[in-house]
Amino acid sequence: MAILVFVESADGKIKKTSLEAVAYAHAMGDKVTAIALGTIDKAELTAVGKYGASKVLTVSDERLNQGVIRAYAAVLAQAIQAESADTLVLANSSLGTPVAASVAVKIGASLASNVVGLPDTSSGFVVKQSIYTGKAFAMVEMKNQKKVIGIKKNAVELKEVGGDATVSDFTANLTDADFGTKITATEKATGDILLPEAEIVVSGGRGMKGPEHWGILEDLAKTLGAATGCSKPVSDIGWRPHHEHVGQTGVKVAPQLYIAVGISGAIQHLAGVNSSKYIVVINKDPEAPFFKAADYGIVGDAFTVVPKLTDAIKASK
Ligand SMILES: Cc1cc2nc3c(=O)[nH]c(=O)nc-3n(C[C@H](O)[C@H](O)[C@H](O)COP(=O)(O)OP(=O)(O)OC[C@H]3O[C@@H](n4cnc5c(N)ncnc54)[C@H](O)[C@@H]3O)c2cc1C
Repeated sequence: MAILVFVESADGKIKKTSLEAVAYAHAMGDKVTAIALGTIDKAELTAVGKYGASKVLTVSDERLNQGVIRAYAAVLAQAIQAESADTLVLANSSLGTPVAASVAVKIGASLASNVVGLPDTSSGFVVKQSIYTGKAFAMVEMKNQKKVIGIKKNAVELKEVGGDATVSDFTANLTDADFGTKITATEKATGDILLPEAEIVVSGGRGMKGPEHWGILEDLAKTLGAATGCSKPVSDIGWRPHHEHVGQTGVKVAPQLYIAVGISGAIQHLAGVNSSKYIVVINKDPEAPFFKAADYGIVGDAFTVVPKLTDAIKASK
Protein backbone atom coordinates (compact mmCIF):
# COMPACT_ATOMS: atom_id res chain seq x y z
CA MET A 1 0.00 0.00 0.00
CA ALA A 2 1.43 3.40 -0.96
CA ILE A 3 0.55 6.54 0.96
CA LEU A 4 0.55 10.10 -0.31
CA VAL A 5 0.94 12.91 2.25
CA PHE A 6 -0.07 16.46 1.44
CA VAL A 7 2.34 18.86 3.16
CA GLU A 8 1.32 22.48 3.71
CA SER A 9 3.74 25.37 3.95
CA ALA A 10 3.64 28.85 5.46
CA ASP A 11 6.17 31.56 4.55
CA GLY A 12 8.12 28.99 2.50
CA LYS A 13 8.48 26.54 5.40
CA ILE A 14 6.76 23.17 5.72
CA LYS A 15 4.34 23.31 8.65
CA LYS A 16 5.08 21.18 11.72
CA THR A 17 1.58 19.69 11.57
CA SER A 18 2.36 18.47 8.03
CA LEU A 19 5.59 16.87 9.25
CA GLU A 20 3.43 15.10 11.84
CA ALA A 21 1.26 13.84 8.96
CA VAL A 22 4.42 12.45 7.29
CA ALA A 23 5.47 10.79 10.58
CA TYR A 24 1.95 9.34 10.93
CA ALA A 25 2.08 7.86 7.42
CA HIS A 26 5.57 6.46 8.08
CA ALA A 27 4.33 4.83 11.29
CA MET A 28 1.63 3.08 9.22
CA GLY A 29 4.54 1.13 7.76
CA ASP A 30 4.06 1.77 4.05
CA LYS A 31 5.92 3.60 1.29
CA VAL A 32 5.41 7.32 1.85
CA THR A 33 5.49 10.01 -0.85
CA ALA A 34 4.83 13.62 0.13
CA ILE A 35 3.48 16.32 -2.15
CA ALA A 36 3.93 20.09 -1.72
CA LEU A 37 2.13 22.71 -3.80
CA GLY A 38 3.40 26.14 -4.76
CA THR A 39 6.88 27.63 -4.50
CA ILE A 40 8.92 26.09 -1.66
CA ASP A 41 12.66 26.02 -1.12
CA LYS A 42 14.29 22.72 -2.19
CA ALA A 43 16.09 22.28 1.16
CA GLU A 44 12.73 22.39 2.92
CA LEU A 45 11.41 19.68 0.60
CA THR A 46 14.36 17.28 0.97
CA ALA A 47 14.17 17.67 4.78
CA VAL A 48 10.71 16.07 4.72
CA GLY A 49 12.64 12.79 4.27
CA LYS A 50 13.79 13.00 7.89
CA TYR A 51 10.26 12.22 9.02
CA GLY A 52 9.77 9.21 6.76
CA ALA A 53 8.97 10.26 3.16
CA SER A 54 11.26 8.71 0.56
CA LYS A 55 10.13 11.08 -2.19
CA VAL A 56 8.59 14.55 -2.39
CA LEU A 57 6.57 15.65 -5.39
CA THR A 58 6.48 19.34 -6.08
CA VAL A 59 4.12 21.24 -8.33
CA SER A 60 5.62 24.65 -8.86
CA ASP A 61 2.68 26.39 -10.48
CA GLU A 62 2.57 29.96 -9.14
CA ARG A 63 -1.22 29.87 -9.08
CA LEU A 64 -0.88 27.23 -6.32
CA ASN A 65 0.89 29.68 -4.02
CA GLN A 66 -2.63 30.49 -2.87
CA GLY A 67 -4.54 27.70 -1.15
CA VAL A 68 -7.38 27.28 -3.67
CA ILE A 69 -9.29 24.25 -2.41
CA ARG A 70 -10.61 23.01 -5.75
CA ALA A 71 -7.23 23.29 -7.49
CA TYR A 72 -5.43 21.58 -4.59
CA ALA A 73 -7.97 18.74 -4.59
CA ALA A 74 -7.54 18.30 -8.35
CA VAL A 75 -3.74 18.02 -8.05
CA LEU A 76 -3.91 15.62 -5.12
CA ALA A 77 -6.45 13.35 -6.86
CA GLN A 78 -4.18 13.20 -9.93
CA ALA A 79 -1.09 12.49 -7.80
CA ILE A 80 -2.89 9.69 -5.93
CA GLN A 81 -3.61 8.05 -9.26
CA ALA A 82 -0.09 8.59 -10.67
CA GLU A 83 1.52 7.15 -7.51
CA SER A 84 -0.99 4.26 -7.28
CA ALA A 85 -1.58 5.39 -3.70
CA ASP A 86 -4.65 4.21 -1.87
CA THR A 87 -4.37 6.49 1.15
CA LEU A 88 -3.99 10.25 1.47
CA VAL A 89 -2.84 11.59 4.85
CA LEU A 90 -2.86 15.28 5.69
CA ALA A 91 -3.05 17.59 8.70
CA ASN A 92 -6.43 19.04 9.60
CA SER A 93 -6.35 22.79 9.10
CA SER A 94 -8.50 25.51 7.56
CA LEU A 95 -7.07 24.42 4.20
CA GLY A 96 -6.38 20.70 4.79
CA THR A 97 -9.86 19.85 6.08
CA PRO A 98 -11.87 21.07 3.06
CA VAL A 99 -9.21 19.76 0.65
CA ALA A 100 -9.54 16.31 2.30
CA ALA A 101 -13.32 16.31 1.82
CA SER A 102 -13.02 17.38 -1.81
CA VAL A 103 -10.38 14.74 -2.64
CA ALA A 104 -12.47 12.03 -0.91
CA VAL A 105 -15.42 12.87 -3.16
CA LYS A 106 -13.25 12.93 -6.29
CA ILE A 107 -11.65 9.51 -5.69
CA GLY A 108 -14.56 7.79 -3.89
CA ALA A 109 -12.62 7.39 -0.63
CA SER A 110 -13.65 6.86 2.99
CA LEU A 111 -12.89 10.07 4.91
CA ALA A 112 -11.96 10.49 8.57
CA SER A 113 -10.87 13.79 10.07
CA ASN A 114 -9.44 14.84 13.46
CA VAL A 115 -7.78 11.43 13.76
CA VAL A 116 -5.62 11.05 16.88
CA GLY A 117 -4.14 7.56 16.67
CA LEU A 118 -2.71 5.06 14.23
CA PRO A 119 -5.24 2.79 12.49
CA ASP A 120 -6.15 -0.52 14.10
CA THR A 121 -6.04 -3.07 11.29
CA SER A 122 -6.70 -6.17 13.43
CA SER A 123 -10.25 -6.29 12.08
CA GLY A 124 -10.84 -3.94 9.15
CA PHE A 125 -9.32 -0.45 9.25
CA VAL A 126 -10.41 1.54 12.30
CA VAL A 127 -9.20 5.00 13.29
CA LYS A 128 -9.76 6.96 16.50
CA GLN A 129 -11.39 10.30 15.83
CA SER A 130 -11.59 13.21 18.27
CA ILE A 131 -15.18 14.52 18.43
CA TYR A 132 -17.24 17.11 20.37
CA THR A 133 -14.28 19.54 20.42
CA GLY A 134 -12.02 16.96 22.05
CA LYS A 135 -14.41 15.81 24.80
CA ALA A 136 -15.02 12.34 23.31
CA PHE A 137 -13.62 9.87 20.77
CA ALA A 138 -15.27 7.83 18.03
CA MET A 139 -13.83 4.65 16.54
CA VAL A 140 -14.47 4.92 12.83
CA GLU A 141 -14.19 2.02 10.40
CA MET A 142 -12.99 3.13 6.98
CA LYS A 143 -14.45 0.61 4.56
CA ASN A 144 -13.46 1.84 1.09
CA GLN A 145 -10.22 0.71 -0.47
CA LYS A 146 -9.19 4.35 -0.89
CA LYS A 147 -8.91 6.39 2.29
CA VAL A 148 -8.37 10.02 3.21
CA ILE A 149 -7.14 10.57 6.78
CA GLY A 150 -6.95 14.03 8.34
CA ILE A 151 -4.90 14.04 11.53
CA LYS A 152 -5.23 16.35 14.51
CA LYS A 153 -2.23 18.33 15.73
CA ASN A 154 -0.02 16.33 18.16
CA ALA A 155 -1.54 13.02 16.93
CA VAL A 156 1.95 11.54 16.67
CA GLU A 157 5.33 12.26 18.15
CA LEU A 158 7.66 13.99 15.71
CA LYS A 159 10.99 12.21 15.58
CA GLU A 160 13.60 11.92 12.86
CA VAL A 161 13.70 8.51 11.19
CA GLY A 162 15.51 9.01 7.88
CA GLY A 163 17.66 11.16 5.63
CA ASP A 164 16.90 13.46 2.71
CA ALA A 165 14.00 12.72 0.37
CA THR A 166 14.38 12.88 -3.40
CA VAL A 167 12.45 15.73 -4.99
CA SER A 168 10.64 15.32 -8.33
CA ASP A 169 8.42 17.63 -10.34
CA PHE A 170 4.84 16.57 -10.80
CA THR A 171 2.75 17.96 -13.64
CA ALA A 172 -0.95 18.32 -13.03
CA ASN A 173 -3.69 19.18 -15.50
CA LEU A 174 -5.49 22.21 -14.14
CA THR A 175 -8.17 24.29 -15.81
CA ASP A 176 -9.31 27.86 -15.15
CA ALA A 177 -12.39 26.38 -13.46
CA ASP A 178 -10.10 24.87 -10.79
CA PHE A 179 -9.11 28.43 -9.86
CA GLY A 180 -12.66 29.76 -9.47
CA THR A 181 -11.80 31.53 -6.21
CA LYS A 182 -9.00 33.95 -5.46
CA ILE A 183 -7.69 35.40 -2.21
CA THR A 184 -7.59 39.14 -2.86
CA ALA A 185 -5.90 40.19 0.41
CA THR A 186 -4.66 38.63 3.64
CA GLU A 187 -4.36 40.15 7.09
CA LYS A 188 -1.90 38.54 9.45
CA ALA A 189 -2.13 38.48 13.22
CA THR A 190 0.64 40.49 14.82
CA GLY A 191 3.18 39.10 17.30
CA ASP A 192 6.48 37.29 17.04
CA ILE A 193 4.98 33.86 17.59
CA LEU A 194 1.63 33.04 16.05
CA LEU A 195 -0.86 31.53 18.47
CA PRO A 196 -2.16 28.58 16.39
CA GLU A 197 1.40 27.38 15.68
CA ALA A 198 2.94 28.11 19.11
CA GLU A 199 4.67 25.38 21.09
CA ILE A 200 4.10 27.28 24.34
CA VAL A 201 1.15 29.57 25.12
CA VAL A 202 0.77 31.91 28.11
CA SER A 203 -2.87 32.86 28.43
CA GLY A 204 -4.64 35.29 30.74
CA GLY A 205 -8.22 35.60 31.93
CA ARG A 206 -10.40 38.06 33.79
CA GLY A 207 -8.36 37.32 36.92
CA MET A 208 -5.68 39.60 35.44
CA LYS A 209 -8.01 42.53 36.34
CA GLY A 210 -7.10 44.79 33.42
CA PRO A 211 -4.96 45.26 30.28
CA GLU A 212 -2.37 47.25 32.24
CA HIS A 213 -1.33 44.03 34.03
CA TRP A 214 -0.51 42.06 30.88
CA GLY A 215 3.16 43.05 31.11
CA ILE A 216 3.86 40.22 33.58
CA LEU A 217 2.33 37.68 31.18
CA GLU A 218 4.29 39.13 28.26
CA ASP A 219 7.51 38.87 30.30
CA LEU A 220 6.78 35.23 31.06
CA ALA A 221 5.90 34.58 27.41
CA LYS A 222 9.07 36.28 26.19
CA THR A 223 11.21 34.29 28.63
CA LEU A 224 9.67 31.01 27.40
CA GLY A 225 9.49 31.94 23.69
CA ALA A 226 5.71 31.63 23.95
CA ALA A 227 2.69 33.21 22.24
CA THR A 228 0.11 35.03 24.36
CA GLY A 229 -3.57 34.10 24.47
CA CYS A 230 -6.62 35.06 26.51
CA SER A 231 -10.14 34.03 27.48
CA LYS A 232 -13.15 35.28 25.55
CA PRO A 233 -14.35 37.95 28.02
CA VAL A 234 -10.86 39.45 27.98
CA SER A 235 -10.99 40.02 24.22
CA ASP A 236 -14.69 41.00 24.37
CA ILE A 237 -13.90 43.79 26.85
CA GLY A 238 -11.03 44.89 24.61
CA TRP A 239 -8.17 44.12 27.00
CA ARG A 240 -6.54 41.98 24.30
CA PRO A 241 -7.00 41.65 20.50
CA HIS A 242 -9.62 39.17 19.25
CA HIS A 243 -7.06 36.99 17.49
CA GLU A 244 -5.75 35.99 20.95
CA HIS A 245 -9.11 34.64 22.12
CA VAL A 246 -8.73 30.92 22.81
CA GLY A 247 -11.61 28.46 23.05
CA GLN A 248 -14.60 26.92 21.37
CA THR A 249 -15.46 30.18 19.62
CA GLY A 250 -11.87 31.34 19.22
CA VAL A 251 -8.48 29.86 18.31
CA LYS A 252 -7.98 26.18 19.10
CA VAL A 253 -4.44 25.61 20.26
CA ALA A 254 -2.46 22.40 20.77
CA PRO A 255 0.91 23.49 22.19
CA GLN A 256 3.34 21.40 24.19
CA LEU A 257 2.65 23.68 27.15
CA TYR A 258 -0.40 25.85 27.94
CA ILE A 259 -0.12 28.15 30.96
CA ALA A 260 -3.49 29.55 32.07
CA VAL A 261 -3.35 32.50 34.45
CA GLY A 262 -6.51 33.82 36.14
CA ILE A 263 -8.78 31.78 33.89
CA SER A 264 -11.59 29.84 35.57
CA GLY A 265 -11.62 26.93 33.09
CA ALA A 266 -15.14 27.16 31.66
CA ILE A 267 -16.01 24.31 29.30
CA GLN A 268 -15.96 26.66 26.29
CA HIS A 269 -12.39 27.71 27.10
CA LEU A 270 -11.25 24.11 27.70
CA ALA A 271 -12.63 23.13 24.26
CA GLY A 272 -9.86 25.20 22.71
CA VAL A 273 -6.97 23.92 24.82
CA ASN A 274 -7.63 20.26 25.59
CA SER A 275 -5.21 19.03 22.89
CA SER A 276 -2.31 20.70 24.71
CA LYS A 277 0.33 18.26 25.89
CA TYR A 278 0.76 19.84 29.35
CA ILE A 279 -1.51 22.35 31.07
CA VAL A 280 -0.34 24.51 33.97
CA VAL A 281 -2.97 26.51 35.84
CA ILE A 282 -2.31 29.50 38.09
CA ASN A 283 -5.42 30.60 39.98
CA LYS A 284 -6.07 31.99 43.46
CA ASP A 285 -9.22 29.88 43.85
CA PRO A 286 -8.35 26.23 44.68
CA GLU A 287 -11.86 25.27 43.49
CA ALA A 288 -11.39 26.77 39.99
CA PRO A 289 -12.60 24.13 37.47
CA PHE A 290 -9.42 24.52 35.38
CA PHE A 291 -7.45 22.59 38.04
CA LYS A 292 -9.35 19.42 37.05
CA ALA A 293 -7.90 19.66 33.53
CA ALA A 294 -4.41 20.69 34.68
CA ASP A 295 -1.24 18.60 34.76
CA TYR A 296 0.26 21.07 37.25
CA GLY A 297 -1.49 23.70 39.31
CA ILE A 298 -0.36 26.63 41.43
CA VAL A 299 -2.91 28.04 43.87
CA GLY A 300 -1.91 31.65 44.37
CA ASP A 301 -2.23 35.25 43.33
CA ALA A 302 -1.12 35.73 39.70
CA PHE A 303 0.55 39.02 40.58
CA THR A 304 2.88 37.25 43.01
CA VAL A 305 3.29 33.88 41.28
CA VAL A 306 3.91 34.96 37.67
CA PRO A 307 6.88 37.34 38.30
CA LYS A 308 8.46 34.72 40.58
CA LEU A 309 8.00 32.05 37.92
CA THR A 310 9.54 34.30 35.27
CA ASP A 311 12.53 35.08 37.52
CA ALA A 312 13.02 31.38 38.30
CA ILE A 313 12.97 30.46 34.59
CA LYS A 314 15.43 33.26 33.78
CA ALA A 315 17.71 32.09 36.60
CA SER A 316 17.61 28.49 35.37
CA LYS A 317 18.72 29.47 31.84
C1 LIG B 1 -21.61 30.17 23.50
C2 LIG B 1 -20.43 30.52 24.36
C3 LIG B 1 -19.16 30.43 23.80
C4 LIG B 1 -18.05 30.77 24.58
N1 LIG B 1 -16.80 30.65 24.01
C5 LIG B 1 -15.72 30.90 24.80
C6 LIG B 1 -14.41 30.74 24.29
O1 LIG B 1 -14.21 30.38 23.11
N2 LIG B 1 -13.36 31.00 25.09
C7 LIG B 1 -13.51 31.41 26.40
O2 LIG B 1 -12.50 31.64 27.09
N3 LIG B 1 -14.75 31.57 26.89
C8 LIG B 1 -15.84 31.34 26.13
N4 LIG B 1 -17.10 31.54 26.66
C9 LIG B 1 -17.19 32.15 27.99
C10 LIG B 1 -17.02 31.15 29.12
O3 LIG B 1 -18.21 30.49 29.42
C11 LIG B 1 -16.49 31.84 30.39
O4 LIG B 1 -17.40 32.84 30.75
C12 LIG B 1 -15.11 32.47 30.21
O5 LIG B 1 -14.20 31.54 29.71
C13 LIG B 1 -14.61 32.98 31.57
O6 LIG B 1 -13.45 33.73 31.36
P1 LIG B 1 -12.39 33.89 32.53
O7 LIG B 1 -12.02 32.54 33.04
O8 LIG B 1 -11.31 34.78 32.03
O9 LIG B 1 -13.16 34.73 33.61
P2 LIG B 1 -13.84 34.32 35.06
O10 LIG B 1 -14.80 33.22 34.82
O11 LIG B 1 -14.30 35.59 35.60
O12 LIG B 1 -12.62 33.74 35.85
C14 LIG B 1 -11.56 34.48 36.36
C15 LIG B 1 -10.69 33.56 37.18
O13 LIG B 1 -9.57 34.29 37.64
C16 LIG B 1 -9.31 33.88 38.95
N5 LIG B 1 -8.60 34.99 39.62
C17 LIG B 1 -9.11 36.18 40.00
N6 LIG B 1 -8.13 36.95 40.52
C18 LIG B 1 -6.99 36.25 40.45
C19 LIG B 1 -5.65 36.50 40.81
N7 LIG B 1 -5.28 37.68 41.36
N8 LIG B 1 -4.74 35.54 40.60
C20 LIG B 1 -5.07 34.34 40.07
N9 LIG B 1 -6.33 34.05 39.70
C21 LIG B 1 -7.28 35.00 39.88
C22 LIG B 1 -10.64 33.57 39.57
O14 LIG B 1 -10.50 32.68 40.67
C23 LIG B 1 -11.36 32.94 38.39
O15 LIG B 1 -11.19 31.54 38.37
C24 LIG B 1 -18.21 31.20 25.90
C25 LIG B 1 -19.51 31.28 26.45
C26 LIG B 1 -20.59 30.95 25.69
C27 LIG B 1 -21.96 31.01 26.30
